[in-house]
Amino acid sequence: MSVLCEGKRDPLGLDMQVEAPRVQERYEVIRKIGRGKYSEAFEGIDLTNNGKVCIKVLKPVKRKKIRREIKIVQNLAGNTNTIQLFDIVRDPQSKTPALIFEYVDNDDYKTLYPKLGNLDIQFYMFELLKALEFCHSRGIMHRDLKPHNVMIDHQKHQLRLIDWGLAEFYHPGTLYNVRVASRYWKGPELLVNIQDYDYSLDLWSFGAMLAGLIFQKEPFFRGQSNDDQLVKIGAVLGTDGLLDYVDKYLGELPEGVKAVPGFLSDTLQLPQPWTNFVTAENEHLTSTEALDLLDKLLRYDHQERLTAAEAMAHAYFDRVRARESTGDGSQPVSLNTSDTEDWSDMLS
Ligand code: ATP
Repeated sequence: MSVLCEGKRDPLGLDMQVEAPRVQERYEVIRKIGRGKYSEAFEGIDLTNNGKVCIKVLKPVKRKKIRREIKIVQNLAGNTNTIQLFDIVRDPQSKTPALIFEYVDNDDYKTLYPKLGNLDIQFYMFELLKALEFCHSRGIMHRDLKPHNVMIDHQKHQLRLIDWGLAEFYHPGTLYNVRVASRYWKGPELLVNIQDYDYSLDLWSFGAMLAGLIFQKEPFFRGQSNDDQLVKIGAVLGTDGLLDYVDKYLGELPEGVKAVPGFLSDTLQLPQPWTNFVTAENEHLTSTEALDLLDKLLRYDHQERLTAAEAMAHAYFDRVRARESTGDGSQPVSLNTSDTEDWSDMLS
């Protein structure tokens, strides 16, 4: 199968800059690498230079949604940790649009995450914050941050944030759709229908990912439904804070949550200390700094959460920042460290 470029200016009518005319059969599919709700992704080859690419063939969704995803990835061009869009073409058989992205030789998070050491986690979470800080600085909320959307090539120590299909430009005062993000990483604002949320939504999802990584419990909040997701969050952060949050922003506690036996009972009112989740298996990952950072991210009140830039300045990332300031940060970590024990997972 091949994906053809139609050789027309702006073949999708999306007001994009598409060079024309050019080589017809430019991309060839090698294998399927993923299937999402809105697309099928393939590993492919750019026949003009034999370089690997990711071909994301979009399912027939609203033109407006496709246009938004393209506009957003174009706005993120040039940043190292957000996926780069190379081209936009149309599949000749199905006529559906396909986006050509840089390819990441991704390690499946289910096998990678349990292998990561303390400094590996610090390194990758810092890289992820760089991507978030960048997109937020460009006025974009990702709105679907989760392990599946964070591609990591562990051999190259390369991280890329993908899937901008639910991303949106932030305009203060705008009411946004709360049906975004994937359940385990949904911020409380989405679960209690607070629509004037902002970039801080991504910091909740980031915090939920960090909790999964350091406690080695993926996902950390595992709800069976959206209502149950709030119950799972309430069991950790306490229900008093949730009620205060709902009051402050005029959200509403879903009826399904109010009806959960014991949810508003005395036993669940107080937040649990983060140390409750430290075990013999994860204690090497759960330093005081790690728990402090987590505490400052996983806040009901989205206005209280650290921003991406503030999180990057947190003491949890001291060593990663120190490496960057000596110019070693972008290098494969293992080559430049005498601290081989700490970075042992990077060496594997
Ligand atoms: P979802 O339903 O999760 O929102 P989607 O239809 O929007 O998914 P993506 O998440 O962008 O599609 O891609 C689907 C899958 O394809 C990813 O989970 C990943 O496994 C793979 N993939 C996407 N982009 C790349 C890339 N640039 N390099 C390598 N693999 C990729």
